[in-house]
Amino acid sequence: MVKENNTYSEAGIIVIGNEVLSGETLDTNSQYIGKKLNELGIVIRKKISVPDEKEDIIQAIDSLWSCCNLIIVSGGLGPTNDDITKKTLATYFNSELIFSQEIFEAIKKMLRHRVPVISDAHRNQAYVPHNARVLLNKLGTAAGLLFEKEGKVLIALPGVPYELRGLMDSEVRSYLQKLTSSNSLINKNIKTIGIAESIIAQKIKDIEDSLPVYIKLAYLPSIGQVKLRLTAQNGKDKDSLSKELDVLIEKISSRISEYIYGYGDVTVTEAIGLLLRERAASLSTAESCSGGFIAHSITSVSGSSEYYLGGIIAYSNQMKVKELGVSKSILDTYGAVSQECAEAMAKGARKKYGTSYAISTTGIAGPKGGSKEKPVGTIWLAVDSEDETISKKIVFDRGRIQNIHLSSVIVLNMLRMLILKKVDH
Ligand code: AMP
Ligand code: MG
Repeated sequence: MVKENNTYSEAGIIVIGNEVLSGETLDTNSQYIGKKLNELGIVIRKKISVPDEKEDIIQAIDSLWSCCNLIIVSGGLGPTNDDITKKTLATYFNSELIFSQEIFEAIKKMLRHRVPVISDAHRNQAYVPHNARVLLNKLGTAAGLLFEKEGKVLIALPGVPYELRGLMDSEVRSYLQKLTSSNSLINKNIKTIGIAESIIAQKIKDIEDSLPVYIKLAYLPSIGQVKLRLTAQNGKDKDSLSKELDVLIEKISSRISEYIYGYGDVTVTEAIGLLLRERAASLSTAESCSGGFIAHSITSVSGSSEYYLGGIIAYSNQMKVKELGVSKSILDTYGAVSQECAEAMAKGARKKYGTSYAISTTGIAGPKGGSKEKPVGTIWLAVDSEDETISKKIVFDRGRIQNIHLSSVIVLNMLRMLILKKVDH
């Protein structure tokens, strides 16, 4: 049996699958596993990716046992011949595969409306190693398997991401919670936008330099944003660590307050949604080069219908004129990628849809379509409100998709600043 109340668990992850190594499939499973274990205060020591090969799987387990008391395995539990994880684990743990009627009934029930007949391959999914604890998979046919050996634990999970997540969030979580109840690792995040990590580092250097050894600060940049993650771990209880982090967060926040849109796991669009909701304000969008990306990120937030009325993808000049009332003379004189056009688009959308705010994008996302005066990555962004219209030009070529992503983040931040009335003139 595994020692109860481990104060410090160390885990390894093994990702199994030829498709992950060849690059065909992006390994998002280990990211999810890492995140969830981290929340439980479990430290990830190593992660290994191996092909669907018996020897490689066994070598990976042997190597991780030397540093970890928990191994989570992803992949290779499927019904096809290329999936050999279950057989390999049965050999490794001196186990015999036995038929489980309970699993078979669950599989039959699940497949009732999906397949005409239950194949042998499906029936094989009901065979499990006799000395494994079965983690029932409600979303697929591959059961999770949990082995305990010499005070250590190995948990094998299916590779299909939503099935793995389902099991991680239910069975695995409740099992590990019991083992790690006294782990005192805490993470808290500060979410910033519109400021480079190097500038943040300068502004908070003295705070960072005086952090105690048990508190770590990580800068986690993504497009247009930086997440500051504070992690604390020592023998103290969670409450006192949490209070200590809160004091630090307040100190850091006072140095970079206007760039902070939220804390924890909040997203920019969630933060903007909150601001709009508090003010009973509404929003519409007029997108050219971002092609609906902004509308998508806004509507990815549940409850967005309370403040987002809708928008238009006005990709062609014709649509800009017809749907948004951009004057032909603006297009003839300044072109579609211009401050005048971006502002006219935002104004047109706000008027047409009758919203408190409207945002617009117009630019050259690339890789084709650039010129000397307007190179690829030239993008004009605008936000219109009752009182004022603001606009900004960015010239930044990181490739089409990144250009779209970055311009969306920047214009959303312009909107945030305008709502908060922190706009530079
Ligand atoms: P498997 O359990 O190996 O049969 O995996 C089933 C499917 O899940 C594969 O075809 C992949 O599309 C997906 N998958 C497997 N491993 C991963 C992983 N590490 N990250 C994301 N998707 C995965
Ligand atoms: Mg596979």
